[in-house]
Amino acid sequence: MLSLIFVLGAASSCAAQKNKGLSALPPDIRAQAESALSSVHIGDADRGRIVEAIGNDPSGFALLFREVRDVMKKDPDLLRRVDKSVALPANFVPADLVVLDGAFPYVVSKKGMLLRAPARDALVRMAEAAKKEGRTLVVSSTYRSYDYQKTVFERNVREMGKAEAERVSAQPGMSQHQLGTAVDFGSITDEFGDTAAGRWLSANAGKFGFSLSFPKDMEAVTGYRWESWHYRYISPPASEMQVRFFLGIQQYLIEFLAALPH
Ligand SMILES: [Zn+2]
Repeated sequence: MLSLIFVLGAASSCAAQKNKGLSALPPDIRAQAESALSSVHIGDADRGRIVEAIGNDPSGFALLFREVRDVMKKDPDLLRRVDKSVALPANFVPADLVVLDGAFPYVVSKKGMLLRAPARDALVRMAEAAKKEGRTLVVSSTYRSYDYQKTVFERNVREMGKAEAERVSAQPGMSQHQLGTAVDFGSITDEFGDTAAGRWLSANAGKFGFSLSFPKDMEAVTGYRWESWHYRYISPPASEMQVRFFLGIQQYLIEFLAALPH
């Protein structure tokens, strides 16, 4: 009962927290953050928690905000929004795709897989760290072209019907894999989350700039069922921002960043 009163109390104070949380930010960042946060599709409770986190550490937020803006300026596609509402053009192909084959600390499930260079470099660093702790990262799927995604999605529709296909795979143009920064690890099944590699990634991927795109019980927010194997490289400062200020939810962070003035 006491905890219920506490929860209700916290929820009702959200509105009051809203301005308080952002008011300690430097004025230029505050204006951008306020406007961007209002365009994120998010419930009042989660919005309140984000504002509260910012209010608890405004200088930490401002520092990361500037770092992430810098990443976006140098590499706009790294934090580009792609989801069920925002699609990439069919002809979008990253310019810096590199092949994953070779003497690297990860294992590839097939030859010829491609990733963008910054994601591949981070993957190498992450796999090296995993290896030191006795974990082998198996890379199962990486860059997918628009046409390849079309084949995947249409096959899923034939096999499981449109509604289920939409839960487990993206329509062409709407897949993070087309960005060249998403990696599917291991078995690509729910069991992966409980493997040694799956647990290691869950605890450590963020340090290397990778973020779990579709967490458990977040289908209403992300549009996809839980995918313990699907990570997107978003850079270390963005990953830190997601963890410290956006409740660990990549969708909230990406929507927020996409709504910032260009
Ligand atoms: Zn995936």
